[in-house]
Amino acid sequence: IENVHKIYKSAGKELTVLNNINFSVASGATLAITGPSGSGKTTLLGLCAGLDRATSGTVKLNDIRLDELTEDQRAAVRNNYVGFIFQNFQLMPTLTALENVMVPMELRGTKNIRAHAMDLLDKVGLAERSHHYPVQLSGGEQQRVSLARAFSNKPAILFADEPTGNLDAETSEKIEKLMFELNTDAGTTLVIVTHDLELAQRTSRIIKIKGGMIISDEANGR
Ligand code: ATP
Repeated sequence: IENVHKIYKSAGKELTVLNNINFSVASGATLAITGPSGSGKTTLLGLCAGLDRATSGTVKLNDIRLDELTEDQRAAVRNNYVGFIFQNFQLMPTLTALENVMVPMELRGTKNIRAHAMDLLDKVGLAERSHHYPVQLSGGEQQRVSLARAFSNKPAILFADEPTGNLDAETSEKIEKLMFELNTDAGTTLVIVTHDLELAQRTSRIIKIKGGMIISDEANGR
């Protein structure tokens, strides 16, 4: 990410949410982004993942300039490289838990996806809820379905926005374990937005952001 600015315009007013952000993350690294509510963390994650476009600046993923791509091209890059765990889950309401997990694999044309999706649901402790629709699941259960969905293609990079925000301590620990296993076993780069300092401490680097600017960027000494 180089010289990135993000300005939202609404009701004739401009709001600068990210102000000259610069950083890069090495493949296979683990990074936490922390900072107060409203400081721009979710916006930043969305730009890095190609979900949204910066107002100015350069955003590269695997040497691909996301800011130069059309929306469809960015969607293709996301499907090839990116897993994303949303703060508000963003499950498809008309699909069951199992079908939600199958979607990224279907898009990629993977084989035997039903068995693999079941296995992922089992890993997040939801095998018995596979045929439930999102509305029939608790917040934490929806969060876990969204995790299973994000893991489904063994993404090169996983962006997680408050991945454990809705979970009890025991489930959080399970989910964190799965994320860090993905990093050690499959080499998935982890970029995690979190208010949970214990989770941040498990990563190898912490970026703190305030008022849309990076105020510190430090190795974690792990
Ligand atoms: P939290 O920790 O509460 O999730 P955050 O650090 O992730 O906050 P963002 O969600 O990135 O913060 O929001 C940063 C700022 O941008 C906030 O002031 C928010 O109101 C504003 N904002 C976010 N999305 C939009 C939008 N689509 N249009 C206008 N303003 C927006």
